[in-house]
Amino acid sequence: MPKKGRVFSGARPTGRQHLGNYLGAIQNYIALQDEYHCVYCIVDIHALTTVDTTEDLVQNTYEMALDWLAAGMRPEETIIFVQSQVPEVTELHTYLSMVTPLGKLTDLPTFKEKARMHPHNINYGLVGYPVLQTADIVLYKSNAVPVGMDQAPHLEFARETVRSFNYRYNTNVLIEPQMAATEYPKVLGIDGQQKMSKSLDNHIELAAKPEETTRRVMQMVTDPQRMKRSDPGNPDICNVFSMHKVFSSAEEVSMVNVECRRAGIGCVQCKQLFARNLNQNLEPFRTRRAELAKDPDLVWGVLRDGQKRASAIAQQTMREVREAIGLPKP
Ligand code: SF4
Repeated sequence: MPKKGRVFSGARPTGRQHLGNYLGAIQNYIALQDEYHCVYCIVDIHALTTVDTTEDLVQNTYEMALDWLAAGMRPEETIIFVQSQVPEVTELHTYLSMVTPLGKLTDLPTFKEKARMHPHNINYGLVGYPVLQTADIVLYKSNAVPVGMDQAPHLEFARETVRSFNYRYNTNVLIEPQMAATEYPKVLGIDGQQKMSKSLDNHIELAAKPEETTRRVMQMVTDPQRMKRSDPGNPDICNVFSMHKVFSSAEEVSMVNVECRRAGIGCVQCKQLFARNLNQNLEPFRTRRAELAKDPDLVWGVLRDGQKRASAIAQQTMREVREAIGLPKP
């Protein structure tokens, strides 16, 4: 079947991926490969805006790419690469910054949020983050970007920036990306309160050993009103039940839904069931990951190949961009 166009998406190198990463992004990345030519980028330059140290950057890049491959990314068709290895993006970022009003950047909710979280490090990169993000997307002439509704303002920003650039230089060299609207479920951590995140240590790693996964599952917070085994529970407000709906069979979900409400099943038993199903679901991923990890150069080889293919597109775009601006040819 002919593909619909090119999709771009980037993710920060956060190392070994967790369930939240999988359900919130990776699963969708894999599915999009059937419909689009996909370009997936490990955005290490973006990471520099907030990281305290870069000592884990290389290892985190490796682990994340390994997880992506084990989960089903197909590098023979999909371009997987590291952002800093195609430096044209920084040049395009500079040109785009000239058509971006500063007030627009500082008004973005994500900037305000980041400034609140990193009050002692409000650097220029943090302000210009959406411009670099726009450069990422348009450098690869992407037609679509998979974003959840909460990211819609950023994509609108990118679209406006493209329009400003094209208008300013009377060109149509840059493509306005469309939103490949995606349902991104908010995956809560084992605390049952906050979004699953490594920094909050409330995550369940995809590549963890089954015993470790079970240990983390047994720590999951359930219906807070259910104090004793004999209390009826409410699965509608229980994170374990939300996860059952993703990883357990329809019969088991239905059983938990009924039995929890009449105290027919205890939380320990319910979590044991979920842990078993989760481990079963993750088994093929873990086996594949272990296979791929046997050759340490495999991941770097995929990223090198991705860099070459991404560079070819980027260099062509930049020739067109420089000409559209009217810069002198070398
Ligand atoms: S029995 Fe299961 S669904 Fe019900 S509160 Fe306990 S963990 Fe949650």
